[in-house]
Amino acid sequence: MGKETGFLELDRHDRTYTDPKERLKHYKEFIVPLPEPDLKAQASRCMNCGIPYCHNGCPVNNIIPDWNHLTYEGNWQAALEVLHSTNNFPEFTGRICPAPCEASCTLNIIDQPVTIKSIECAIVDRGWQEGWITPQVSKQRTGKTVAVVGSGPAGLAAAQQLARAGHSVTVFEKNDRVGGLLRYGIPDFKMEKHLINRRAAQMEAEGVQFRASTEVGVTVSVASLKENFDAIVLSGGAEDARKLDIPGSELPGVRPAMEFLTQQNKRNAGDDEIRAAPRGSLTATGKHVIVIGGGDTGSDCVGTSNRQGAASVTQLEIMPKPPEKEDKALSWPNWPLKLRTSSSHEEGAVRDWAVLTKRVVGDNEVKGLECVRVEWEGGRMKEIEGSEFTLPADLILLAMGFVGPRKQGLLDQAGVELDARGNVAANVVDYRTSDPKIFACGDMRRGQSLVVWAIREGRQAARAVDEALMGSSELPR
Ligand SMILES: Cc1cc2nc3c(=O)[nH]c(=O)nc-3n(C[C@H](O)[C@H](O)[C@H](O)COP(=O)(O)OP(=O)(O)OC[C@H]3O[C@@H](n4cnc5c(N)ncnc54)[C@H](O)[C@@H]3O)c2cc1C
Ligand code: SF4
Repeated sequence: MGKETGFLELDRHDRTYTDPKERLKHYKEFIVPLPEPDLKAQASRCMNCGIPYCHNGCPVNNIIPDWNHLTYEGNWQAALEVLHSTNNFPEFTGRICPAPCEASCTLNIIDQPVTIKSIECAIVDRGWQEGWITPQVSKQRTGKTVAVVGSGPAGLAAAQQLARAGHSVTVFEKNDRVGGLLRYGIPDFKMEKHLINRRAAQMEAEGVQFRASTEVGVTVSVASLKENFDAIVLSGGAEDARKLDIPGSELPGVRPAMEFLTQQNKRNAGDDEIRAAPRGSLTATGKHVIVIGGGDTGSDCVGTSNRQGAASVTQLEIMPKPPEKEDKALSWPNWPLKLRTSSSHEEGAVRDWAVLTKRVVGDNEVKGLECVRVEWEGGRMKEIEGSEFTLPADLILLAMGFVGPRKQGLLDQAGVELDARGNVAANVVDYRTSDPKIFACGDMRRGQSLVVWAIREGRQAARAVDEALMGSSELPR
């Protein structure tokens, strides 16, 4: 335990953001890290609970009390070792995880959880700065080969674990750069992309081969992978976006969030190919933007639109406005439903809830969006008569979630069974699909989720593959 009385003496004090006026001028990260003395003090608030609920709150089961204690003592290198024992990429989760661990921290009962995510981020950032994070090259070679399809956090975690177990791993990625949604979904202002490059370089040094711009099912067939590899891991994500099926949604100013976000990340990377994008360059500059969908993707569209200089940004959500505060007696230690205001919302946007979109107004160009207010009763939605209204709009971004993995190409060729929701069917013990040589993990298996869940599934699937190939495995589950 950090300090017996730490939680009694100190209040929670977390990282801050730079001023919105400043940060809106660029796409870089804007979190101001805590100085070392503050980090140690915050780590001392951990009570080392008999049953540390944060362990289960964290999907990779990070051993949080142990690294809190080591941080309090200033033993950063040991803290890093404990952190890496459960999480391949803490610099990703330390930036973009919604931190369900903090919701389940015992101190959260009084609304002052330990600043777990900030401490995690500080440990791993320090590790990189000090040069403690180096390639861990396997001393043994198994002679087995594994193909990983998709280089998001699930594929990267699976590949790193499998390479460390001595297998020859090749990661196939259809995009021009590796990283999945970390690269081309999540904006740079939430997570800069040099962090992915640094991990990919570490993995290459550990023996992982990356084949970018290679779509399995198009550039390379599934049959050829089955012929040339001992096992295949499918980690292609859940890319099939939910569509807006209302009159006018075919107008050119109605665009998927991913098209918009990907283009900006590519611009930040210095690419000029956006000009050659199938439907041309897409920006919010000077436009009245409506974002449909109240989740993470929608929030990222808000932040990106504001950086591009939108005339106005409105975010609509069909569900009712959640309560400002949860009822802890009912929700703790689980993830509560409550109003969440992201840094992008703080930068400026009108948010509206319980709104159903009815029709896009416009002939060739989008001019507006007709909406109606709805009420929810027993899970059923009812339109409120006379509550119709029209919002002016030049650009409508669709951020209504993802219904599952794309079926064309990869899954059609693989012919693996799908579950009732259209995801690849595989359990979380052996991660094996209906084809004994093919395994699945991450969003492709569980549906649209979080980076930390993808890392968990990638790690566990790697162990399952190792067991299947070798008869037993020393990889952690
Ligand atoms: C805009 C946005 C913002 C988000 N923000 C957050 C956040 O802040 N925090 C958080 O925890 N989660 C966030 N998420 C969710 C998170 O990004 C995903 O849950 C996570 O990336 C899933 O990881 P994955 O590896 O399973 O799939 P993905 O990250 O989707 O990666 C799949 C990869 O497979 C590749 N691929 C697909 N098919 C093929 C093929 N046939 N051949 C070769 N390659 C293929 C794709 O190109 C892609 O690179 C966000 C999601 C979006 C869309
Ligand atoms: S990965 Fe997420 S849930 Fe786990 S300790 Fe880090 S911030 Fe918390």
